[in-house]
Amino acid sequence: MMQIFMPLNFLGFIYREMKGAFASIEKMFALLAQVPAVRDDVQAPELCVSEGGIEFDGVSFAYSAERPIIEQLSFRVAPRQRVAIVGASGAGKSTLFKLLFRFYDCTGGRILIDGQDIRRVTQASLRRAIGVVPQDAVLFNGSIFDNIRYGCITATEAEVREAIRLSHLEEFIAQLPKGWDTQVGERGLKLSGGEKQRVAIARTILKRPPILVFDEATSSLDSHAEQSILRAMDEVSARHTALVIAHRLSTVVNADRILVLDQGRLVEQGNHAELLAQKGHYARLWRAQQDTATR
Ligand code: ATP
Repeated sequence: MMQIFMPLNFLGFIYREMKGAFASIEKMFALLAQVPAVRDDVQAPELCVSEGGIEFDGVSFAYSAERPIIEQLSFRVAPRQRVAIVGASGAGKSTLFKLLFRFYDCTGGRILIDGQDIRRVTQASLRRAIGVVPQDAVLFNGSIFDNIRYGCITATEAEVREAIRLSHLEEFIAQLPKGWDTQVGERGLKLSGGEKQRVAIARTILKRPPILVFDEATSSLDSHAEQSILRAMDEVSARHTALVIAHRLSTVVNADRILVLDQGRLVEQGNHAELLAQKGHYARLWRAQQDTATR
């Protein structure tokens, strides 16, 4: 019975995901009516990623001509570096990622991955190279194992085991009575926000993308959950180039570099200690979040 039940659950999950995707597609069509479509060049080559280095070179962008959102932004992310983007709400963090995925073309400057302008390569190859850890992973009714292997359904048990290790889920899974066969989702175990996010990390790294983007959750996690995610991020970013859109500054403390955006401009950069010492934008954002956390 379980053998029939699981695929039906899985189909239900795919259906819900597709429904979500169609809702987004409807929004996309509305969007495409307003902005020029991003198209592949005829005979555009595939992106060829060897190291996973990223460069924003004088990038500017505006959704509408009268209101610039990103202005003359330049920075580099070396292969296997972890760089966090921080800034007040509306500073342009998510827009940067939309540009990296080429949902829009820059209005000035260029974005390079391993020296290749992302406008010159196929969008499919670009998006294959970037794995996204979303804010809120959706789990389907099935085992933890199946939920993780959903990231790459041809992955072997050994590969799933490695993804679990890198995502710091081993300890959590070991304490479950049925281990990774434990059922989760609506009809099974409810995972906490932090556990779900680590499942999302495991799923994404199973695809082995050279570049990882963490769209970090806004919801506040308890400090134990946050520490587990931080350890998982540390482990994973040693192997991938990682960009983190950080809404919660406590998760950027370990980043190699933090870029501080203000109204689409890069106003500060450095590691956590350097930026605190500058007593500027970052130090103010940090203090504001500490105050909110202790209130
Ligand atoms: P948050 O932390 O609140 O998510 P953010 O730093 O990610 O903010 P963005 O989402 O990049 O900010 O938005 C930057 C600016 O661009 C905002 O003023 C926003 O209103 C505007 N914006 C975002 N998306 C669109 C869009 N599709 N069309 C027009 N303006 C947009």
